[in-house]
Amino acid sequence: MSDDLDELYQQVILDHCKGPRNFRVLEGANRKGEGYNPLCGDNYTVFLKMNGDVVEDATFQGSGCCISKASASLLTDTIKGKTKAEVKALFAKVHDMITTGAVSDEGVGKLAVFAGVHKFPARVKCAILSWHAVIAAVDGENQPVSTE
Ligand code: ZN
Repeated sequence: MSDDLDELYQQVILDHCKGPRNFRVLEGANRKGEGYNPLCGDNYTVFLKMNGDVVEDATFQGSGCCISKASASLLTDTIKGKTKAEVKALFAKVHDMITTGAVSDEGVGKLAVFAGVHKFPARVKCAILSWHAVIAAVDGENQPVSTE
């Protein structure tokens, strides 16, 4: 984090970092994705409950830096109710935004707080990590998820 990040955006990221939403193992999850970023030590598991093509519920667990945790928190909030295709379209926009800083005019919503991350290339992986876990999960086969 740095003073270069917009102060409002910093507030949102800090808020989600200190009090992450959906931070639990998901009862009844049928998809799971793992994300590990060795450069930073971020390590998360994303749990999805999918009904057909629709994400009914999403949660995550794990540990890592503030940006990775806030990203997973906002991400799991955002994708609830979206179809697999919508999640992938959103990922394309967010990936573009985080790597270039260009905020797409449609649809990224609160995720716009991560636009400033592009100024810190080492942090891009932190912000994207949970997305890769989610994409792996929506692309995966339905399977019972062990919550042990
Ligand atoms: Zn990190």
